[in-house]
Amino acid sequence: MIAIPRQKPVFRFAPSPNGPLHLGHALSALLNRDMAKASGGRFLLRMEDIDLARCTPEFEAGIETDLAWLGIDWEKPPRRQSDHFADYQTALDSLIDRGLAYPAFLTRGEVKAHVTAIENTGTPWPRDPDGSPHYPPTDRTKSAEECKQLLGSGQKHAWRLDMAKAIATVESPLAWSETGDGERGEITADPAAWGDVVLSRSDAPSSYHLSVVVDDALQGITHVVRGLDLYHATSVHRLLQTLLGLPAPTYHHHRLINDADGRKLSKSAGDTGLAELRAKGLSATDIRHLVGL
Ligand code: GLU
Repeated sequence: MIAIPRQKPVFRFAPSPNGPLHLGHALSALLNRDMAKASGGRFLLRMEDIDLARCTPEFEAGIETDLAWLGIDWEKPPRRQSDHFADYQTALDSLIDRGLAYPAFLTRGEVKAHVTAIENTGTPWPRDPDGSPHYPPTDRTKSAEECKQLLGSGQKHAWRLDMAKAIATVESPLAWSETGDGERGEITADPAAWGDVVLSRSDAPSSYHLSVVVDDALQGITHVVRGLDLYHATSVHRLLQTLLGLPAPTYHHHRLINDADGRKLSKSAGDTGLAELRAKGLSATDIRHLVGL
């Protein structure tokens, strides 16, 4: 019998270098590395730095120092998203060409004012799983001519997915395979819950959702291991993967590490920051124990 070479599993840790790593990141990075090792797979590092205003080379260097201290080794060099804006543009163009994305001109303040005005009449406004209001239909319903004119005049804009249209072009119901700490098995995706998500921002030539699916595909990621805070975002990722003809990895959303008050850890890591804990004399083994590994 001919032995068919099995594709090696590929894992990635994908932090945004916009702050110092904390215990939550340590759990994510260690789980990824441990699962890669246990399955004979590869472990990659990706710097998700599309937000050029908040991401810095200093934070990036800090991430590498923290990971090395934890005893984690990754394939060099890491992929840096800001080096690959052209890849995200190609994906965006294919959605625009199919009429699945539209230019969105409202500022954050204008969206807020629109939603507040409607809510003040007693009509509820839909919110996404993170609690943000859906983008109003104002721009989705603009004529091609009007959009062309606004774009031509250099008006600042983002690009958003026409969610209803996008879902309508996908044939079968979307799902993903989940092995994490929440619900497991085949999970039905519900991208409509997100409304018209951003594909590229007015201040960044991509968005988290678009770049994460493009990169996972380009890097051949077979297993996405990340926090449960991104569980619902997977619905958007499955839709984009399907629209762009990209493969679906297996997903493992792990428990989150909360602070003493039960809140999600933030980037102003304070006493849960890995650099601070290191300075206090803790070892990498202590960190493993602290995150429950
Ligand atoms: N860059 C994201 C973060 O730092 C993680 C993205 C992902 O793992 O899909 O929260």
